[in-house]
Amino acid sequence: MPNYDAIVIGVGGMGSATIYHLARRGWKALGLEQYGIPHELGSSHGYSRMIRYTLQEHPSYVPLVRRAYELWHELEDTTGERLVVTTGSVRAGPADSPYFQDAQKSCDLHNIPYEVLTAKEINKRFPGYKFPEEISSIYQADGGFLLPEECIVNHVKAAEQAGAEVHSGEPVLDWEPQGSGVLVRTDKDTYTAGRLVVTAGAWAAKLVPNVAAYAVPERQVLGWFQPERPELFRPETFPVFGVLTEEGRYYGFPSYSVPGFKIGRSHHLLQQVDPDRMDREVHAEDEAVLRQAVSRYFPLAAGRLLDRKTCIYTNTPDEHFLIGALPDCPQVSVAAGFSGHGFKYASVIGEIMADLAQNGETDHDISLFQLDRFDV
Ligand SMILES: Cc1cc2nc3c(=O)[nH]c(=O)nc-3n(C[C@H](O)[C@H](O)[C@H](O)COP(=O)(O)OP(=O)(O)OC[C@H]3O[C@@H](n4cnc5c(N)ncnc54)[C@H](O)[C@@H]3O)c2cc1C
Repeated sequence: MPNYDAIVIGVGGMGSATIYHLARRGWKALGLEQYGIPHELGSSHGYSRMIRYTLQEHPSYVPLVRRAYELWHELEDTTGERLVVTTGSVRAGPADSPYFQDAQKSCDLHNIPYEVLTAKEINKRFPGYKFPEEISSIYQADGGFLLPEECIVNHVKAAEQAGAEVHSGEPVLDWEPQGSGVLVRTDKDTYTAGRLVVTAGAWAAKLVPNVAAYAVPERQVLGWFQPERPELFRPETFPVFGVLTEEGRYYGFPSYSVPGFKIGRSHHLLQQVDPDRMDREVHAEDEAVLRQAVSRYFPLAAGRLLDRKTCIYTNTPDEHFLIGALPDCPQVSVAAGFSGHGFKYASVIGEIMADLAQNGETDHDISLFQLDRFDV
């Protein structure tokens, strides 16, 4: 039976980074992915993922994103591929909303420079925006986006170069502890390893039933709209944004890789799903949710819908991640529940998961993500 130091189940955003870090440390690592690498059925596709310091989610994400930036740039240097596009980032909403104030607080606590702009000021500086008077913006110059498919492919390439083995099109059927290690069964073979890392995204609960109540998949929809003035929606002229409006929390990106201004609404239609049976078609009611915000806040981009995709969030009750070793099985660790804001950290999550596999602990502060805050 083939034996490894570590097996990683799921080679998406987090798994590709984990294999890279394990291989870099000289571990004999195997990555198992049920679909292709990359693919469009999980959480890490759609050409762009925002990276930003304006972290209203919690100030303790700031050191993680700092390290994530370093590691993304290191991977760019290793592979010679561009993975990060800097556009500046806008976090916007009513000035008295927690969304706005907490983003500002995270920057203040960690000495991240930013500007506060009124609606009039931001609309003038970036004419693709048309925010109403009640929306204030935090502009932070270092924000931008990652190219998620390229990030995954380049982590895998660099991992393979460092000696890792990665199998695509090989679903894991189940696993069980075996002595101090694990036994993993796929549709093709059976493997053993000293450590197991589960980075299965929306499928986490199918492999680790303990997390089922705390890592819940949710259907999302992305749309790409044709701008009337394309020059206002390029990376040089249009910063990525997250904005809290009366109609919900929207986020968006300039045109890049594919034509069209990209927009989504967080928790789109609040549809909890089974990732194996999710409706992956995009319907008129999905488009309407996106178009209402484009028409009101970015009217110069409200042309035809050029492309659309579905994607999956995996939400925890507090929207903080789930990271750690299983209490009854310390040779197995899980990274799940990235709740719609995880991709930017994938590079540092890979480092953390490799630390946990190697040492059972990490120097990164992951106290916010402990499994035992829930009944896992
Ligand atoms: C629409 C949308 C917009 C987002 N925007 C942002 C953003 O701007 N910035 C940001 O930081 N984050 C964002 N996120 C969140 C971020 O993309 C996710 O948190 C991140 O991609 C999760 O990565 P993952 O590795 O957990 O999941 P995935 O990348 O989906 O990887 C899990 C992998 O496990 C595989 N797998 C599952 N079960 C098995 C099995 N039994 N055998 C083998 N393989 C298996 C799957 O096929 C999959 O490839 C967004 C998410 C969505 C859906």
